[in-house]
Amino acid sequence: MLPKRSALFLDRDGTLIEDLHYLSDPSKVRLLPGIRECLATLKKDGWLFFLFSNQSGIRRGLCTFEQVNACNQRMLDLIDLGRDLFTKTCLALGTAEEPCEYRKPSPKFILECLETFHLNPNRCWMIGDKETDVEAGQRAHIRTILMQPQSEIFSKNSPQTVVCKDFFEVLNRLREEKR
Ligand SMILES: [Mg+2]
Repeated sequence: MLPKRSALFLDRDGTLIEDLHYLSDPSKVRLLPGIRECLATLKKDGWLFFLFSNQSGIRRGLCTFEQVNACNQRMLDLIDLGRDLFTKTCLALGTAEEPCEYRKPSPKFILECLETFHLNPNRCWMIGDKETDVEAGQRAHIRTILMQPQSEIFSKNSPQTVVCKDFFEVLNRLREEKR
């Protein structure tokens, strides 16, 4: 049997790119510091990547599915590690008022991918800038990283969550883990 693989579940806005709230214009996509270099290193290290993004703006009529996809393609072009960088992408279209079954903090997407792609939950991380990202990861029993430029903000009651101020710190943490 093949060994179970390691994977990163990545939030998009505020984690990989600047959070512009209901982004619809691909020309406004800006990668956050270190994303390109760090993902290149992590890819070489053998991690799989999954994109997991709440996109309630589509349901709210603030942007279209095509626009969100165009922004994702632009992000992939800027990262420049291939259009197939993400093994699978989940765009959860529900809103806070009317959540869909995949909307974070639901762990459903992560749980399905763990099973489908034979991932090792002990070697998978959910990485995001919101407590709902962390909660989705915790509910799927994988490990969690909260991206917070001002790390004090995060509540004290999730000591098992690693807090990183940027993606360079994420990379260091994940590489420490591998050793
Ligand atoms: Mg976010």
